[in-house]
Amino acid sequence: MSRRVLVASRNAKKLGELRRILDEAGIVGVEIVGLNDVSPYAEAPETGATFEENALAKARDGAAATGLACVADDSGLEVDALRGMPGVLSARWSGRHGDDAANNALLLAQLAEVPDERRCARFVSACALVVPGGAETVVRGEWPGAIGRKPAGAGGFGYDPLFIPEGGAVTAAQLTPAQKDAVSHRGRALARLVPALAALSLEDRPRLED
Ligand code: IMP
Repeated sequence: MSRRVLVASRNAKKLGELRRILDEAGIVGVEIVGLNDVSPYAEAPETGATFEENALAKARDGAAATGLACVADDSGLEVDALRGMPGVLSARWSGRHGDDAANNALLLAQLAEVPDERRCARFVSACALVVPGGAETVVRGEWPGAIGRKPAGAGGFGYDPLFIPEGGAVTAAQLTPAQKDAVSHRGRALARLVPALAALSLEDRPRLED
């Protein structure tokens, strides 16, 4: 029998990414479902001061509302020259939630005078797993790089056209989805969640003496 685990997202790409990671880790007995597969519940706004707080709050809400173990993530961009901002405000940095073009334009303007050697940044993803009446696990994945001087590339989303991963010469928006998944902050965080998910899949196995 497999154990259903809710991923608190409607993004098919995020669900697919976790399914692939579980497959690659050889974890059987965990069935990933998304928010579209469960009865709707009130989703609280993201008001935490850290990625970890937001991810944990989302996972607690999902677990309490559905009775399922729940995985949730929160992510964003930290820019050293802006002392770690936009951080948890990444999606609404320009004032309008999800306006990627405006967010990128504002970030470029803010960094206009910042020399190349001080344009370091990182994408961060916090992922939480909450088991109803049980354990809470929070992990973090980071993807280091720098902010370029103009957008490049048509792939990805958000700040990808400005973000040049460490050791590379192209932006995240110029990588294929598979190339990005293999090194991204989210991939790294989800990989760190695998031991907790593996433990979950074992909890439901019948013991020999049963
Ligand atoms: P969320 O955690 O998926 O809601 O992402 C928050 C915001 O962080 C997004 O709206 C983007 O602006 C930014 N962000 C997070 N991950 C990425 C990424 O992989 N590429 C580009 N931008 C990202």
